[in-house]
Amino acid sequence: MSEASAARETASTDRGIPSSLTSLYQEVILDHYRRPRNKGPLARATHSITLNNPLCGDVIELKLRVDGDTIEEARFSGKGCSISQASASMMTGRIEGRSIEDACALGDKFTELLKGDAELLGDADLGDLRALAGVSKFPVRVKCALLGWNCLDELVGEGAGSSPPPEAT
Ligand code: ZN
Repeated sequence: MSEASAARETASTDRGIPSSLTSLYQEVILDHYRRPRNKGPLARATHSITLNNPLCGDVIELKLRVDGDTIEEARFSGKGCSISQASASMMTGRIEGRSIEDACALGDKFTELLKGDAELLGDADLGDLRALAGVSKFPVRVKCALLGWNCLDELVGEGAGSSPPPEAT
């Protein structure tokens, strides 16, 4: 057996998770993937948007009920790899009840974490989202992890509604 084929066989069978993420992180991610939180319809949604990540085939629809500047409820639906779906599940849990400003600030922190800022692993504000830190080693998968947050940014972030979504590269 060649080394190349041996490596292929030890690769994760779940196409969603790079095999070199640690097992602890894999468990948290898979738990959100298999039992997503806050997935489904949202009555009286005030905001909704659907974005996709053509590189991976991920689709996320994010729905919010915003009252004043508070995100009262957040729900998502979608399909795609486990990283995109788990990230959206974790995100909705972290942004409910927050002000729009706080939620967007959390998104900025999460983006920095995915750029490899290891200090943020000590930031309890990120909660389960820290399980996705290992994705920073896989630039292509960072887009998966940020898809739900891109939805949030498009809906309520700075310049929401005034600029076209960034072009996929
Ligand atoms: Zn993906």
